[in-house]
Amino acid sequence: MADYLRPTRLDEALQALSRPHAVLAGGTDFYPARVGRAIDEDVLDITAVAQLRGISECADGWRLGATTTWSELLEAPLPPLFDGLRQAAREVGGRQIQNAGTLAGNLCNASPAADGVPPLLALDAEVELASPAGVRRLPLAAFIIGNRRTALRAGELMVAIHVRKRTRATLSGFLKLGARRYLVISIAMAAATLEIERGRIAAAQVAVGACSAVAHRLPLLEAALAGAPFDQRLGNRIDSAQLAPLTPIDDVRGSAEYRLDAVVTLVRRLLVGLVP
Ligand SMILES: Cc1cc2nc3c(=O)[nH]c(=O)nc-3n(C[C@H](O)[C@H](O)[C@H](O)COP(=O)(O)OP(=O)(O)OC[C@H]3O[C@@H](n4cnc5c(N)ncnc54)[C@H](O)[C@@H]3O)c2cc1C
Repeated sequence: MADYLRPTRLDEALQALSRPHAVLAGGTDFYPARVGRAIDEDVLDITAVAQLRGISECADGWRLGATTTWSELLEAPLPPLFDGLRQAAREVGGRQIQNAGTLAGNLCNASPAADGVPPLLALDAEVELASPAGVRRLPLAAFIIGNRRTALRAGELMVAIHVRKRTRATLSGFLKLGARRYLVISIAMAAATLEIERGRIAAAQVAVGACSAVAHRLPLLEAALAGAPFDQRLGNRIDSAQLAPLTPIDDVRGSAEYRLDAVVTLVRRLLVGLVP
């Protein structure tokens, strides 16, 4: 390792990024990606930067600091809007991984199987990116642009994730399909946020991961759900034609054909499971 920095202030961290540094948060993706080779790059450890930590609520939404860990998310007093993200948090690795791994690390690593991405897409989350030149916000859907590719520019750090408040009663959920229940890379996962008004779905956001290079929202399904009675009949509104944005691959965990078939069942179970 050439240089290891662990600043406590955000301005120091951003200043450090005027020279190339590999950003290190919980290290749970960082170190596995470097097994068998020496770390010869300069490293910027951001875990001591106070401004990157914690969850706060403001009038129109929540700010999830970049280095919020999965465990911290699970311990935070958040409303049912976050149930889907919290369900995903419970299924990211085991407790040790949840204690160290961060939300922003999951997004910046941009794995097609990152469990945090579908729930945050279904929450219409935005990411806040900072550099010495200033701050910008991007919808998460515009931030992850490919398999392990993001819109992060050289010298930029993800500082927070923002989730807006809803005016209607809102529920959310997450379901993951793996070869076993825990400690497993997803074959497919789905997340949904449903806004309910007078017994009907007023708005729906549904996202599916591990079935394309980037997790996708399903606009055709969302349109089919809008206005539907919020009861068990929801399951009848889901069909394979709504999966158009998904382009799964065959891999060791499952074939493309299996994934497409499984996703219909997964999404149906997820949505029907949200009905009280
Ligand atoms: C045993 C094991 C099990 C796992 N199980 C799961 C699982 O079930 N589901 C799942 O989704 N993931 C899983 N993971 C992957 C990993 O734990 C998560 O993706 C985690 O959230 C990564 O966060 P981190 O803080 O450890 O990221 P790090 O490893 O520190 O960083 C990941 C990448 O993001 C960059 N980065 C981190 N933070 C920032 C920032 N603020 N700004 C800019 N760039 C940044 C780093 O430079 C690096 O490229 C597992 C990993 C292990 C080792």
